[in-house]
Parts: sequence; C-alpha cells; structure tokens
Amino acid sequence: MGVNNMNEKVHMKVQDPKERCKNFNEVELGYTDEEALQEANRCLQCPNPRCMTGCPVSIQIPKFIKAIKDNDLKLAYEIICESSSLSAVCGRVCPQERQCESMCVRGLKGEAISIGSLERYVADNAIKNDYVSLNKKEKNGKSVAIVGSGPSGLTCAGELARLGYEVTVFEVLHKAGGVLTYGIPEFRLPKKIVKREVDNLVKLGVIIKTDVPIGNAIPLDELRSEYDAVYVCSGAGLPKFMGIPGEDANEVFSANEILTRINLMSSYKDESTTPIKKAKKAYVIGGGNVAMDAVRCLKRLGIEAHLMYRRGEEELPARKMEVTHAKEEGVIFDLLQNPKKILTDENNSVIGIEVVNMILSDVGDDGRRSVVEDENSLHKVDCDMVVMALGTSPNHEAIKGSNIELDEKGLIVTNGTKTSLDNVYAGGDAVSGAATVILAMEAGKKAASEIDEYLSKK
Ligand SMILES: Cc1cc2nc3c(=O)[nH]c(=O)nc-3n(C[C@H](O)[C@H](O)[C@H](O)COP(=O)(O)OP(=O)(O)OC[C@H]3O[C@@H](n4cnc5c(N)ncnc54)[C@H](O)[C@@H]3O)c2cc1C
Ligand code: SF4
Repeated sequence: MGVNNMNEKVHMKVQDPKERCKNFNEVELGYTDEEALQEANRCLQCPNPRCMTGCPVSIQIPKFIKAIKDNDLKLAYEIICESSSLSAVCGRVCPQERQCESMCVRGLKGEAISIGSLERYVADNAIKNDYVSLNKKEKNGKSVAIVGSGPSGLTCAGELARLGYEVTVFEVLHKAGGVLTYGIPEFRLPKKIVKREVDNLVKLGVIIKTDVPIGNAIPLDELRSEYDAVYVCSGAGLPKFMGIPGEDANEVFSANEILTRINLMSSYKDESTTPIKKAKKAYVIGGGNVAMDAVRCLKRLGIEAHLMYRRGEEELPARKMEVTHAKEEGVIFDLLQNPKKILTDENNSVIGIEVVNMILSDVGDDGRRSVVEDENSLHKVDCDMVVMALGTSPNHEAIKGSNIELDEKGLIVTNGTKTSLDNVYAGGDAVSGAATVILAMEAGKKAASEIDEYLSKK
C-alpha cells in the first residue's frame, strides 16, 4: 500500500510460488508489526460498524482493531476471545471476503480492511506470548458428552467447561480437530495451531477421548444415560461420487481420503508407512475449497495436477484467494469440462477420462448460471489418478441405533440445537450439511448456551 493511499489494503506476504509448490509449509506469512499497524490505521472506527453484521459470531471488530492501534495486543486478543475461541484458525480459514470484509465501508470506495489478517496477527501474537484465557466457574457437578472434535465440538466444549461442566469429547480418529486436522492442509492451517487450541481445552479440564467410534463402541443411548446431556457434532464426512462408469477403478479416490492420508498420516513424507501412490497426472473433479485443497496437495507431491470443473471461473465456489494461489503454484484449470466415464486398462487402473465440454447459459431467476453439455464435444484426456471432490454428506455412525429424527437429506433435525431426543443436542455440519468453520463454531456456542439453560433448570 502506498503511504498516502488509504483505499488499498496491506497485502500479506506469501511464500514464493516456485518454492511453495514443492513444500507443505504455510503459504501466507502473516503481518509484521508495522504492516498490522498500517492496516489497523485504515479502519474508520465506524460508530455503526457494518463489518460486525457480517460476522456470524459478532466479534467486536472495531474494538479489537482499536486495541491494535493502541499497541495493546493482549486486549485485542481478549476482545476477540469474548466471541471466538478459535481465532488463529478463523483468521486463516474463514471466508472473510464473503462475511465481515464484504460489509466493510472501506470496501465501497477501495479495498475493505483485512479483518481476517488482523485477527490472525492478534491470535499469532497470543500464541507467541502464550496468552491463554482459562477463566472458568466452579465445577457444577453436571456432565456433558460431545460427539466429534471438530470446530463445533471444540467450541461447545470450551464454553461448557468455562461454565463449570464436566465435559468429555469423543473422537473416532486418533487426533482431535475434525476437518481442521484431517481436511485443511498444513500449508493453509498449520497443525500446531489446531493442537494448541485442543491443548488449551485440556488445560480447561476438558477430557478428550480419541479412537472412540460413538455408535459402534458406545451407542448414543448409553451416552445419554451416562451424561446429563449430549451434543452430537459428527460433521459431514461421507464423500459423494458421480456414479459414472469406471469410478471403481484403483486410482479413483475421494478428496477426503487423499486429504486425510496427507494431513493425518503425513503420507507425503518420504518416511511414511502409508505413502500415496505417485501419479504422473491427476484430475481433481470439483470447484470448491475441498477440490482446491486436494489439487494443491497433489501439485506439492510433484504430480501434474489438473482441476476439472463443469462451470466457469466466475462460478468456482472456492475462495478467490485459494484459486489465485492454486494458479500461481501451477495447478492447471480445465473449466467447463465434465467427466462422463473413467477409462481403465485390463488391471482396472486409470488411464484417462472421457470428457464432455459444457456451455454456460444466461443467469437464471435464482441468480445462477446453469450448464448444458455440448453433445458433439466428447473427447479423452490421459491421466493415472482421479480425485472426486463433489461434496460430502453426514455419516450416520454416531447416531446408529438411536431413533433421532432426520430430514429427507439425512441431516439431524433440530429446534434451535435441540434434537427430537431428550437431552440430545446437535449442530455443525451434521445439521447444516457441509458448511464453514465459523458456522460450526456458532452452532457449538448456541448448543452450549441451550444445554446450560436446560441443565440449570434440572
Ligand atoms: C478439505 C476441506 C477444506 C475446508 N476448508 C474450509 C475453509 O477454508 N474455511 C471454512 O470456513 N470451512 C472450510 N471447510 C468446511 C469446514 O471445515 C467444516 O464446515 C467444519 O469443519 C464443520 O465442523 P464440524 O465440527 O461440524 O465437523 P467436523 O470438522 O467434520 O468434525 C466432526 C468430527 O466428528 C468425528 N466423528 C464422526 N463420526 C464420529 C463418531 N461416530 N464417533 C466419534 N467421532 C465422530 C469426525 O472424525 C470429526 O473429527 C473445509 C472442509 C474440508 C473438508
Ligand atoms: S466497517 Fe470497516 S472501517 Fe468500519 S469499523 Fe468495520 S472494519 Fe473498520
């Protein structure tokens, strides 16, 4: 930003694309003190801050930015912590450009304040100086079980532990964190940051039990009788496939599997005992954040990585910044293309994809552009790996055997966060379908407050 141009934001420095496309280190490097101050000084401290209306958890944005201006970073952190328990995570992965930043008045004439980058700056400073907020009430003798350790479960656990509840989080995987741990790659969200958030909960007294599949090892009804209340937030981790011929070939994976193996089992490291098969050329099918994460991971493994999406660039649902980063790293975008069939050899190994071109129509009443196939455009592309990133739906393991009410899409039905079962609450992706970290956190916070209200009356 030019010193005199207050309409331009201070861009965060990033790792050189030529280097970062070969490693898993974080892409964005964070603000220096000077950069953060310069950006904070652009904030107009609006009396009616529009930015806050765009924040699902209503962070006091101008207040924390003022604390940065005043060089009181501890206060800035405390202000954020009043509304969000995962600031270092949200500062990195929240789609701020569609939330708080999209509402910022600075954006009317120039670039919005980089609220997310400032949040990250404050949170990282707190980590560096080990600021932890461990304020909590006396134990109240009541217990709550939480099923799933993603952002929704972690948020609910933190809120309830602070209110004096005995909280136990059950997680089927061997590490806590949900998608933050197994889905979002290290180069966007370093795992040490997630671990710190989990460690802070343990310091607050939360018990975290990993490797426990609720539904199988312990039925939900057993949890209901052992604990005063249960919060089900088991996410939406079941991948969708296209149902096209050849999808059962050896080298067709879901993005979830690829990302889990890379993030949770470090299969990109040479010493890994569960290495990912090194393909030469891979196609990731889809256009959302998950597709972008998967294709960027494959690029880092030295694979010629393509992203195939049936609409155009404007319609890509992924964050714009992720698209830009992927392009800079050398990901090849095959837009307006749709797979019709996976081609295989006699060993059922992938040798290519039969693809059709798509044509975008005008914008419809719903504001979206639909696509139709160009029937005469069928062609083949070579590849030896295909990764499906077409969205996910809830996995019902956790609620197996219970008669909890589900809607026609298989999502848990709630009134607020209360389910159809006595003393059972639910939220996050298991209720909304695949959404965002901050919305899952918002549900966790709401569930904590509703559980507290219910148990306080008992
Ligand atoms: C690859 C990827 C990238 C994403 N990128 C972004 C992003 O940049 N920004 C953003 O805002 N959102 C992003 N999202 C979406 C976001 O991560 C999710 O909306 C959010 O994590 C949902 O939180 P949750 O707590 O509801 O569920 P999850 O994070 O899915 O956590 C659920 C947990 O429950 C556990 N579980 C499931 N069944 C059981 C059982 N039977 N017993 C015990 N435990 C169980 C799971 O193992 C998991 O750990 C991304 C998602 C993915 C997959
Ligand atoms: S709307 Fe923008 S300029 Fe106004 S207080 Fe919020 S961040 Fe600052």
